[in-house]
Amino acid sequence: MGTYAITGSASGMGRETAQRLRDEGHIVVGVDIKDADVLADLSTAQGRKEAADGVLAASGGKLNGAVLAAGLGPGPGRDRPRQIAQVNYLGVVELLGAWRPALAAAERAKVVVVASNSATTVPAVPGRAVKALLAHDADKALRSVRLFGPGAPTMMYAASKIAVSRWVRRHAVLPEWAGSGVRLNALAPGAVMTPLLQEQLATPRQAKAVRSFPVPLGGFGEARHMADWMCFMLSDSADFLCGSILFVDGGSDAYFRADDWPKAVPAHRMLGYLRRFRSRRPGTEL
Ligand code: NAD
Repeated sequence: MGTYAITGSASGMGRETAQRLRDEGHIVVGVDIKDADVLADLSTAQGRKEAADGVLAASGGKLNGAVLAAGLGPGPGRDRPRQIAQVNYLGVVELLGAWRPALAAAERAKVVVVASNSATTVPAVPGRAVKALLAHDADKALRSVRLFGPGAPTMMYAASKIAVSRWVRRHAVLPEWAGSGVRLNALAPGAVMTPLLQEQLATPRQAKAVRSFPVPLGGFGEARHMADWMCFMLSDSADFLCGSILFVDGGSDAYFRADDWPKAVPAHRMLGYLRRFRSRRPGTEL
């Protein structure tokens, strides 16, 4: 049996996944702003440090896996874009940075980051906001989305999910992650009926956008099904899964982007790799 850290364990997908793992006999250290083993506000730097330290103390410095599910949707409130940047992006990457040695201490640890199909289905997301998040500059990201007025939370939400997906793919393949045996992947759900979506449906403008969004299979996803996918991504069956973003969204991503991916690797990137491969000294990383 293993030890797993789960953020957002008090509600929705995080709660379902925590329950599933506990039912299987695993130890789960839940992190949330309410009803959790480690109470922490991930929208502050202090809260993220408390969350990181609290999990390491509770797990004895060894984690078989982690699910990063804490998140805020593009709901109302002037402060929401800032909170989204802090919780959805920094609340993932800072915690994973702190937990990496504990994950590497376990054999074949697995990490599931909860991204979103908003990363690929929201148009005109400012690249500057994504770049700023990847540079851990939440204030700059905030300035990049302000001009969208009431649409700023939606833009920050999509930017946070693009940034976190890109972070997963960039880091998954590195010696510190794949090379240390840690499998880093992401789940990209579409609209799933949880309190986060219910908050959106309670606002007429957002409810209209959600209900008119193309979902080829129709309807909404269920948190318990997302938990099934996440438990699978934490299982031995995922031993060969690395840097994947798994879309479980009723077909919306495929609807908009059928021909965008897969795409062949650009020749210059492959040539660069081959050059490094041929000139590497034995025993060094590429
Ligand atoms: P949810 O609201 O049920 O759960 C989110 C959890 O995050 C809650 O328990 C909440 O307390 C916690 N949280 C929020 N702010 C926090 C903070 N400052 N500090 C600590 N914890 C905080 O929502 P959910 O739908 O289960 O969301 C899980 C993840 O899935 C989120 O990252 C969300 O962005 C993503 N997602 C959701 C949907 C959807 O339609 N529900 C779609 C795509 C992606």
